Amino acid sequence: MPAEPLLRVEGVAKRFGPVAALDGLDLDVAPGEFLALLGGSGSGKSTLLRLVAGFETPDAGRILLRGEDLAGKPPQARDVGMVFQSYALFPHLSVFDNVAYGLRREGVARGEIARRVAEALAMVGLEGMERRMPHQLSGGQRQRVALVRSLAKRPSLLLLDEPLGALDAGLRERTGFELRALQRRTGAGFVMVTHDQAEALSLADRVAVLEGGRLVQCDAPRALYDRPATRFVAEFLGGANLLEGRAGADGAVECPAVGCTLRLPPGAAPPAGAAVPVAVRPERIRLLPATDAPQGANTAAGTLRELAYRGEAWVALVATAGGQVLRVVLPGGAAPPPPGDGVALAWDDDANVVLKG
Ligand code: ADP
Ligand code: MG
Repeated sequence: MPAEPLLRVEGVAKRFGPVAALDGLDLDVAPGEFLALLGGSGSGKSTLLRLVAGFETPDAGRILLRGEDLAGKPPQARDVGMVFQSYALFPHLSVFDNVAYGLRREGVARGEIARRVAEALAMVGLEGMERRMPHQLSGGQRQRVALVRSLAKRPSLLLLDEPLGALDAGLRERTGFELRALQRRTGAGFVMVTHDQAEALSLADRVAVLEGGRLVQCDAPRALYDRPATRFVAEFLGGANLLEGRAGADGAVECPAVGCTLRLPPGAAPPAGAAVPVAVRPERIRLLPATDAPQGANTAAGTLRELAYRGEAWVALVATAGGQVLRVVLPGGAAPPPPGDGVALAWDDDANVVLKG
């Protein structure tokens, strides 16, 4: 992280009556960084964007853009663009006029407006569509107009509230890639709200996870997925299995709910007697016929309860000898044994991720 962040959010709190939408949030965004804000409904994602854009005022804390405190600065005076959850194009204005709107309000000269609008539309493959009205565009095209409209003023920071939410799956992935290419070309910092973990992991440089108005973890996608800090992050991203264990004198962890002993990777050495929450990713678990059951640490016996085919993978629910049901994701291809069969599970030491809370 460079010395001076593009955006710094410092201890920001915001209440709506009895609801603490944000509860002392700290977050930095580096210049040119693509940050995804991930969290469940009501976790404070939109509130954070609205505070940074200047549509709401924080109850406590500070918001700094390149070191300058934004308190009291109206939205249009901030070097910040925003794409709203609903695209909010002006329905009675053409594509050209929608994109030109903000520039006209700023008093940019006519020739310059025409040049910037053409350049902006070309960036997203909408050249020649200047005279179309919003209702004559597809959902994906409207989304792109909303995007370039917010970029026409060339803000250093662009806030996007679930910009891909209204698109169907195929278009969503393609538009996601376009979005990231656009971010790299403009060099602007992007803060994108999403509740889709795959979207956050695939597009962003870092992902910030919000829960109940607080930041629970902010890391690069691989780090966040491989080393979730808490039960919430482990379950929210990728649906990890949570194994509640207790450390023995030899450093191994007993997990009676599954009926297994966990051997932790080198470095993790909980004190004897300590409660040790461990996350195991479903795709790290191997599923074997009961007749091939391996013995020892990181193995469990069980019964295959449910099986679902997902195309690229199978999802299996296995009721373990201890009673806890583990979720296992197997690569597509060879069919697993049928539900009702006895099975064995096995995984490697480094699949055991010790959680902090
Ligand atoms: P998210 O975007 O993560 O779904 P929001 O930031 O919209 O969450 O909302 C966070 C919490 O604050 C929610 O409980 C929501 O109901 C509440 N909230 C947000 N805006 C307002 C408002 N203008 N008036 C009252 N409550 C609000
Ligand atoms: Mg929202």
